[in-house]
Amino acid sequence: MAQESNFVDYVKIYCRSGKGGRGSAHMHRAKYMPKGGPDGGNGGRGGHVILRGNRNYWTLLHLRYDRHVHAEHGGNGSKDKSTGKQGADAYIEVPLGTVAYNAETGEYLCDVTEHEQEVVLLKGGRGGLGNVNFCTPTNQAPRYAQPGEPMQEMTVILELKLLADVGLVGFPNAGKSTLVSSLSSAKPKIGNYPFTTLEPSLGIVSYRDNKSFVIADIPGIIEGASEGKGLGTRFLRHIERNTLLLFMVPGDTDDIKREYEILLNELANFNPELLDKGRVLAITKCDLLDEELIEMLKPSLPEGIPTVFISSVTGFGLQELKDKLWQEMNSESNKIAAIQMNESIVHHSKDFSHLHAELEAEGEDENLVWTDDENVEDVEDMDEFEYIDDDEK
Ligand code: GDP
Ligand code: MG
Repeated sequence: MAQESNFVDYVKIYCRSGKGGRGSAHMHRAKYMPKGGPDGGNGGRGGHVILRGNRNYWTLLHLRYDRHVHAEHGGNGSKDKSTGKQGADAYIEVPLGTVAYNAETGEYLCDVTEHEQEVVLLKGGRGGLGNVNFCTPTNQAPRYAQPGEPMQEMTVILELKLLADVGLVGFPNAGKSTLVSSLSSAKPKIGNYPFTTLEPSLGIVSYRDNKSFVIADIPGIIEGASEGKGLGTRFLRHIERNTLLLFMVPGDTDDIKREYEILLNELANFNPELLDKGRVLAITKCDLLDEELIEMLKPSLPEGIPTVFISSVTGFGLQELKDKLWQEMNSESNKIAAIQMNESIVHHSKDFSHLHAELEAEGEDENLVWTDDENVEDVEDMDEFEYIDDDEK
């Protein structure tokens, strides 16, 4: 059963672009010029449906109740070679890290990762050509014009995968939330309850020389999370997009190495590719240990992973941790691994059958009826043209 949450990481939206306006088949007629000539202008382009990245959004919540997006139809061409108005494009503003899929087929559509990045999801129909375009030496007065191209419709699922530099991996009570609070200079609000541990939260960490990076506090893994226990994989999948994983194990844990291995195993069960990511280990709550104990622990720690002893309470080791994280997230091999992971995880089709059920349980599919918002003349009318006598104007 889906739980009520302000962290919205999926939405389903019905999108429709605008039809192209029809070309006009108007015939000009003036005094002493009974036949006149064709002067029908072109139809305007229908509006596109466009996804646009916006770094001020951190969830898809603002889209949850706005599940129909219609771009405007193009205006019809008219007499005096007047071109129809271009239909307004419809923009869907999304947080960085939003991936779009075709809801029916699961086909991957696009990935929005940059501020102000624009991706045309559905193209508006092109406007039809007016009769002036069809004059030939043998037909100087064509009485036809081109219809506008039809609109396009699609149901789209937007999925948010947090784009953070560092994702925290640890059991509940490892000290993840406390670390984010003590490292962050700003905490983007992603829900009404920013300190809840049930929702991912992001912190912006200031680093030397006005640099910064983003750290994601993802709800605790419990053993078996990869098999759907606890919060299951709904949150685990957010770490797929982090460049670096910061493992956190409390210093007073009986067997630090074993706990680290359990965490590693959970990730591997969820997706073995996660192990290709760069990793750092923080031994937390070191204010509970004395220096002697720290020295004694060192030989029994896991090998092959940079390890830092920290205390979020006293600030011990936090600068060293930031240095280490910065160094690792900027290492060429870790960056390449993150990009490759993104390609293989994000850029592929997905099966949303499970999600459809969930969204329906949340009432997402009620009253989804197509309405045509404007009176656009039918394509069948295309061949009609009216004489308008200039004298009568
Ligand atoms: P999370 O579940 O991983 O987010 O863990 P929390 O940050 O909520 O911390 C769990 C408990 O450990 C809380 O009672 C914290 O006060 C405590 N804690 C966190 N960091 C430290 C630390 O550096 N030193 C000590 N002594 N306690 C800490
Ligand atoms: Mg927490």
